[in-house]
Amino acid sequence: MPPPASDNSTVLSPGVLEIDLGALVANYRDICARAEGAQVGAAVKANAYGLGIEPVVKALQGAGCKRFFVATVTEGIELKTIARSAEVIVLNGLMPGDEGVFLEHRLVPVLNDMEQVERWRQAGQGAPCIIHVDTGMNRLGLAPEEAGALASNLHGLNLVEIMSHLACAGQIDHPQNAAQLALFNEVIPMYPYVRKSLANSAGVLLGPAYHFDAVRVGIALYGGNPTHGVANPFAPVVTAKARVLQQRWIDPPATIGYEALYTVDGRMRLATVAAGYADGLPTPLTNHGQGFVAGYHVPMVGRVSMDLITLDVTIASEDATTPGELIELIGPNVLLDQQADAGGLISYEVLTGLGRRFERHYSGG
Ligand SMILES: *Cc1c(COP(=O)(O)O)cnc(C)c1O
Repeated sequence: MPPPASDNSTVLSPGVLEIDLGALVANYRDICARAEGAQVGAAVKANAYGLGIEPVVKALQGAGCKRFFVATVTEGIELKTIARSAEVIVLNGLMPGDEGVFLEHRLVPVLNDMEQVERWRQAGQGAPCIIHVDTGMNRLGLAPEEAGALASNLHGLNLVEIMSHLACAGQIDHPQNAAQLALFNEVIPMYPYVRKSLANSAGVLLGPAYHFDAVRVGIALYGGNPTHGVANPFAPVVTAKARVLQQRWIDPPATIGYEALYTVDGRMRLATVAAGYADGLPTPLTNHGQGFVAGYHVPMVGRVSMDLITLDVTIASEDATTPGELIELIGPNVLLDQQADAGGLISYEVLTGLGRRFERHYSGG
């Protein structure tokens, strides 16, 4: 028997996540121009930073992107079902026992230590691989000395690329950028026939010395600002709006929300809105974040709860904040980086958690 007809379509969503694939593609083309001569690959790990891997990958493929980076094997397998012909690279490496799965799904492993290198040499059947050299991040990758020793003993490995990853590229003047670049430049002459890759989004903005043959970009595609303290050159891609559930007038003395973290000091109109930390608004936004409605910025007051936030909307018209109306939480008026900064957060973590319960609208692309 078929299931009973669902009336979900008549239920008002708690919020709306709008993803502008046209802006995504514009950002991709912008990066291609900035990194001219280098192949631009897209980091689409964590469901394309929360935006939705399938529409994001299809839009980028339409713009000519052939190369995608994921973190895990599972993400790689999923991506191959969306984009069969794409080159899919698994950044987190080759766990013991996964060799067959990599081969079966034609996933390209990033080999992050000598043990992984030796395992792929044995089991990889000449399929392509990438070697990660650690130049100062100290998370993953071969030590530069190991990479140097390996260079003279590559038989059995179809090494297509050697990569490293910058730790501080978001700070233009950080001395570690030049230090990592110098170390990378010491290693790569030992690998004359393979491609080289160092830069993430922020690394692209550090200039041509960092571009090499290929760049790996994520946050810039999605409209985040890769660099601290300079204007964001990339177009916003994501707008998040959540619905007002209730509005009420509050007179002092009163406090708002869990732990009574906000004290009302004058008559205030409060809107309770259907978004909380389970929708990607982390608790550090408590008393610091903001929304935007009917021409006005409205501050978050009181602690962010799991499913709710409270905003002081006194300044906005009452009509604009009646139940069912939408309040912008990320978008053209509350920039992703602005909202993140307000809570001492980074744009990546806000994006990756955003709006899992919201209705999604994709446009452009
Ligand atoms: C996620 C990731 C990237 C992309 O970083 P962005 O800062 O989002 O551009 C590049 N390289 C590696 C190794 C990564 O893990």
